[in-house]
Amino acid sequence: MPEASMRSGHKFAAEDSLVDAVVRSAAMLAGFDEPRREARRLVAAAAEMDAAQLIAAPDSKLGAPAALRLDEILVRRLAHEPLSRILGSREFFGREFALSSETLDPRPDTEVLIEAAKELAHEEGWYDRPFHLIDVGTGTGILAITMLAEFSNATALATDISAQALATAQSNAERLGVADRIRFLEARSLKGVEGSFDLLMSNPPYIVSADIGTLDAEVRLYDPLAALDGGPDGLQVYREIVADLSHSVPQGWALFEVGADQASDVAGLLKGQEVRELRMWKDLGNHTRCVAGRTQF
Ligand code: GLN
Repeated sequence: MPEASMRSGHKFAAEDSLVDAVVRSAAMLAGFDEPRREARRLVAAAAEMDAAQLIAAPDSKLGAPAALRLDEILVRRLAHEPLSRILGSREFFGREFALSSETLDPRPDTEVLIEAAKELAHEEGWYDRPFHLIDVGTGTGILAITMLAEFSNATALATDISAQALATAQSNAERLGVADRIRFLEARSLKGVEGSFDLLMSNPPYIVSADIGTLDAEVRLYDPLAALDGGPDGLQVYREIVADLSHSVPQGWALFEVGADQASDVAGLLKGQEVRELRMWKDLGNHTRCVAGRTQF
């Protein structure tokens, strides 16, 4: 490598081919799970291409802007920053959501909550009448905003303890064209929430506090602690929400994302409130990821 580029820290140059960039990036990412796949994603992102375009044109030149971007992306990715955070956005249920340092990076597993809500909506006839939902701990806004985008007859209240997360969610709502049907409230659990809702959705923080140090670096170093920490047994926020359920969801469904092995505990909390019916859904990894209770207080 020429001395000048070593000094400046540049590893890639405009005239490098895409395939060469992938091979060399993969070598740098040797400690990662799937270095080659990871390298393809990073090079595609730097070149602003999708995977198919990258594979179709292996001998194309990287070009100067992409070479610079790839240098930057690799430095951050080698520090285990997720690509979604580096790029500042993440796709969820087919739509692009901006992230910020105060929001959880949305996970594909969470899409099962949308599938579950759509199933319940069919049964409850929510497709045919206005219905009102609350998303507790909205983060980027994925749950509330996706529901509004899928149901033109729905309105939503989205809460979070972080004002910065709410600002991110609001900008997502504006960009996705649903801002006129959503309100935002800075609140913890259901404290201070007024009104009643047909549907409550929540992906609360649910990691056992003592386990946070054992999470992958991608999660531990980059997701906000407040979006992860579920207290000594991981169930603290569920407990708070469920305790106030009769006020906020007098008749409807409360639908939660749950962590590994938490389904029966969360179902137990709902049973303690005498919910009429319990439902569970699995994610693509075959873990029970969603628990719902039908209320009629
Ligand atoms: N799903 C996140 C994880 O993988 C946790 C998010 C949460 O606590 N709700 O760790």
